Amino acid sequence: MKMTDSKPDSSNDLLARVDDFKSGRISATERVENALSTIAGLDPTINAFHDLLAEEARSTAKELDATRERGDDLGPLAGSIIAIKDNICMNVGRTTCSSRMLEEYRSPFDATVIERLRAAGAILLGKTNLDEFAMGSSSEHCAWGPVRNPHATDRVPGGSSGGSAAAVAADCVDAALGSDTGGSIRQPAAFCGTVGFKPTYGRVSRHGLVAFGSSLDQIGPLSRSVRDAAAIYEAIAGLDPADSTTSDLEVANCLASGPADPARLRVGIPREHRNDRNHAGVNEVLDHAVDRLRAAGATIVDVDLPLTRQGVSTYYVIAPAEASSNLTRFDGIRYGHRAESVPGEGLEDLYARTRTEGFGDEVRRRILLGTYVLSAGYYDAYYKRALQVRRLIKQEYDSAFEQCDVLLGPTTPTPAFPIGADLDPVSMYLNDVYTVNSNIAGIPALSIPAGLVDEDGEKLPVGVHLQAPAFAEADLLAAAAALESLLAD
Ligand code: GLN
Repeated sequence: MKMTDSKPDSSNDLLARVDDFKSGRISATERVENALSTIAGLDPTINAFHDLLAEEARSTAKELDATRERGDDLGPLAGSIIAIKDNICMNVGRTTCSSRMLEEYRSPFDATVIERLRAAGAILLGKTNLDEFAMGSSSEHCAWGPVRNPHATDRVPGGSSGGSAAAVAADCVDAALGSDTGGSIRQPAAFCGTVGFKPTYGRVSRHGLVAFGSSLDQIGPLSRSVRDAAAIYEAIAGLDPADSTTSDLEVANCLASGPADPARLRVGIPREHRNDRNHAGVNEVLDHAVDRLRAAGATIVDVDLPLTRQGVSTYYVIAPAEASSNLTRFDGIRYGHRAESVPGEGLEDLYARTRTEGFGDEVRRRILLGTYVLSAGYYDAYYKRALQVRRLIKQEYDSAFEQCDVLLGPTTPTPAFPIGADLDPVSMYLNDVYTVNSNIAGIPALSIPAGLVDEDGEKLPVGVHLQAPAFAEADLLAAAAALESLLAD
């Protein structure tokens, strides 16, 4: 294994580019043309994008250039180029969720996060590839081919926001939005060497996000630096009348006071997250991060999260249960694909053929699992039991946070694995062992790049994972910014 500086080049981050645009060093139009030509060169290999929104991006850029020339106010993200996971609705182009079911679906409205990014001056350049309906950890379950990891194109980028992570890692865009139900922002961020941030449940509006697990889903940014993640988060977070699960708590200006002082941080290391089942290089990267924090004066405490592994079983009951209910709307009548009707066939048959044709294997597996755990005979044994364990997991975090401000561990047990490794479903689900519990408990969590490991002659990024109490995003981002700069020295 070779440790390298993992700090993303801050001259290359989104806010530096916003500054370039605002100070007239480059026009928005030039920025869009540059991004389109980077994508034209790389995307035939990486397959990070579904539809590009070139026309829309060019006209936004033209307006931004004119606004700048007039000297009028520009938003905090003005001139930045952002890609959008293709399960977030936009009123331009298609919203496919990487499913044949929605191959031709065009949303009549914009998600709230889209409206807010536009209002902040961002240029939205395209929709990114994902595991179908955001179910997966490898971005291989895609209707139009898998995404490839820009660090090693024979490997997966992680999932389900693999297209968003790959687009940022390959420098096609300044940042991207993803969605995270059990790790789908943070795990691909770790595999691709980017920052990935999942806010507290209820912080960011899901109006216009195609629902997967409604008690777990959150939208968040993937970016090249913590300060970029904070800037995007501030633009999209906050109360939304169109999503009754959003909180009215004020969204603090997260990095206004800069990175946290490590000497005042209490960092908890969950014993269950550093173990021999992890790839040896992953443990080394974690240990290195802990050493840097300790050397900078942070208080390091060992904490226990004994239900870490039970989180995976709990998640894979709750998420499929909610998915099986959310996906009933795709029946061929109201939305999306409809199988050709056969004379004499009943409605039930039409539903069944439509859903068999429209959904891929993993989505069908989730619907079957979810329907099973919710069925009258098994509800108490699985679904109700999972909700009870969910409460215990929340309590476990409450007691851990009595001893520390943030928790630190690996984001994933291994670095990116090869495309086509054909993991059985349970091994695939175990990728999520360190990330699902943040969704189960609803707390904010983020992955930052922390080092590289050598694997079969390739250098693969490894991420570390920070978690904080609900609505403590400002503390979480400040701690992450501190660790990011310690890792860069
Ligand atoms: N990998 C997890 C799953 O397959 C998480 C997905 C997500 O967060 N959207 O369900």
